[in-house]
Amino acid sequence: MPDSTSQRPQLLPTVSIVEGTMRQSRRAVMLALAGAVAITLVLLGERMWSGEAMKAAADRHAQAYRLAADLRSTQQQLTSAAQLAAVTGDSAWIDRFDRLVPELARTTEHAALLAPPEAALRFENQTREASATLSRMHLSALEAMGSGGAAAARGLLESDRYRKLSAEVQQATESLTTASLEATAARVDELRERSYFVAAAMLLTTVALGFTLWRRLSSNLTNSRGSLMDAEERIQRLAASDLLTGLDNRAALHDAMQQLMARARRTEHSLAVLMVDLDRFKPVNDRHGHMVGDMVLKEVARRLTRCVRQGDLLARYGGDEFVVVVDETGGVGQAVSTAETIIDRMAQPIQFGDLVVSVGASVGMARFPADAFTDDELLRKADSALYRAKQAGRGGVCLYESRLDERLSERHALEQELREAIAGGQLVPFYQPIVDLSQRSVRSLELLCRWRHPVRGLLAPDKFIAVAEDSGLIGPLTMSLLDQACKDIAKFPGPWRMSFNVAPRQIQDETLVPQLLKILAANAVPPSRIDVELTETALVNDTARARSVILALKRAGMTVTLDDFGTGYSSLSYLAEMTFDKIKIDRSFVRTLHDRPESAKIVDAIVGLSRSLGVHTVAEGVETEEQARALQRLGCTFAQGYLFGRPVRAAELSDRAALAKDLILVPAS
Ligand code: C2E
Ligand code: CA
Ligand code: CA
Repeated sequence: MPDSTSQRPQLLPTVSIVEGTMRQSRRAVMLALAGAVAITLVLLGERMWSGEAMKAAADRHAQAYRLAADLRSTQQQLTSAAQLAAVTGDSAWIDRFDRLVPELARTTEHAALLAPPEAALRFENQTREASATLSRMHLSALEAMGSGGAAAARGLLESDRYRKLSAEVQQATESLTTASLEATAARVDELRERSYFVAAAMLLTTVALGFTLWRRLSSNLTNSRGSLMDAEERIQRLAASDLLTGLDNRAALHDAMQQLMARARRTEHSLAVLMVDLDRFKPVNDRHGHMVGDMVLKEVARRLTRCVRQGDLLARYGGDEFVVVVDETGGVGQAVSTAETIIDRMAQPIQFGDLVVSVGASVGMARFPADAFTDDELLRKADSALYRAKQAGRGGVCLYESRLDERLSERHALEQELREAIAGGQLVPFYQPIVDLSQRSVRSLELLCRWRHPVRGLLAPDKFIAVAEDSGLIGPLTMSLLDQACKDIAKFPGPWRMSFNVAPRQIQDETLVPQLLKILAANAVPPSRIDVELTETALVNDTARARSVILALKRAGMTVTLDDFGTGYSSLSYLAEMTFDKIKIDRSFVRTLHDRPESAKIVDAIVGLSRSLGVHTVAEGVETEEQARALQRLGCTFAQGYLFGRPVRAAELSDRAALAKDLILVPAS
């Protein structure tokens, strides 16, 4: 059988996919970390730079503020110093006035420098003339003060013109400093906004980067998931298929059958399960080796694939067993014709180069829902039908039949029971007298088997002998009976001989004669008291073997009787060929002796032939006195039948009620 377990589905792809995903995830995490570090650095740089800028802007603002105050105070000081100098004519005030004039100019210049250029320009334009005029007026006032003309100086400094020009310059200076303050404040605001903006931009970049990373990672994961699913599907496919033939395996078949049955139930279709078994696969495998065996199975799988239609199931069920499930949408005959096609294709020889092998197939078939409702039951029943197809001679198809199946399982149970019954001594000997017709005295007894069944009561041989023969239990059964009978012989009321039946199959048993002799010897029964009854069937199957057994029995001192003569082949040649001591005329002739004229003629012929061969005749089934007399007239020597007595236990043999009243139990001898 091909080894279907040595190869396991490959798991490597899964491992490499997982590793790949891990690699990519690791890369993504590294990227995220690098991004975070870069953003942090940028943010830090920005923080530092904007901090510096803010500080500078704030300084500038403070400076502008200070300058504005300075300007205002210098202007006031100048005005008061000029007035005091002019009023008092004090040289200290004059000096002070003299120093304050350039100081004011410097401070104003400084303020212009600090102010935004357009404000400075505006200031310059607005104050140029006024400043120049004021300077000249200051110089004139100073000169006047210096030369003692205080009144002239005062006149100058208190003049409307001077006051107007001073107010003009002061106004312009106010505007200038306000512009400076506004500009520096705007710068601070701008920087603050900028830092908000940078933070927002950074936040946005981080979010965008994170999103991109997440997208990358998730798409990688999706890809990996896809690959994993592919791999899993492949693994599942591998696990569901037979590695040699590529067909579905048993597990997959069960799954598929369940689905198909569910669908058939809905659509009210019937399904047919065909169990296909190769007929001569084992010898091919044994003779040509497993390689050829595997090749044959592959070829069989190929041919089967061509026999099924789409929608049908095909699986390798075991070694050389295949299962086809046909959905009988096209009618009930469909499955049978598929089975016939399969048998036909399988019967054609398979050629590998010079080697030609021919296997053939048998098919067993069961139907859903007619025969079974579950996949297991269907397969079991198809298998039981297959068994019958094989028994019927192979190369055919058998449909499941519940009756036959029941009989089969009953038979199986009976076989088991019989085995135990033999061992437990439930099979016991009964004896029926064989009578000398002319003297009406008992000459011998036929040993007939009975089964004392604990439940079913006393069972006749027709209930179990065939099973014993088929199952090989007939040997042990015969020996057990003979052993019991040998012990009974001592209790017989007369010195009678004993006949016992040997089944046709036992002829093939090499140990038959030695075993019989062993039992006789063990019980000190001389073989000369024993007669062995054989039927024609035993002779037909293997004439040579039968002849040698008969010879061995006779050499050992036993006699041999041909039983049931006239029922089977009725070949008179056996009579001439084999040296029988007695012939038993079947009871069917005795029963019809008075109704059918041919019966009497046949009995007459058998008796005549026997006599010419020097063989005695025994008429079976004699039930009436009329029959007994007729048989005697025809020349029959012995008779057996209910007229003389039914089969009874040994202890009842001397009981007059059990046997015919006028029967001589112990002959004068
Ligand atoms: P058989 O060897 O032909 O045995 C004679 C059968 O005819 C017996 O049936 C017997 O009871 C029946 N019989 C006898 N007289 C009459 C009669 O007047 N009328 C009718 N209708 N039947 C009569 P039994 O005991 O049921 O046995 C049936 C068959 O079973 C036997 O046929 C024999 O072939 C077989 N058998 C019985 N015991 C053994 C045994 O130990 N070994 C083997 N191999 N076969 C046995
Ligand atoms: Ca018999
Ligand atoms: Ca018979």
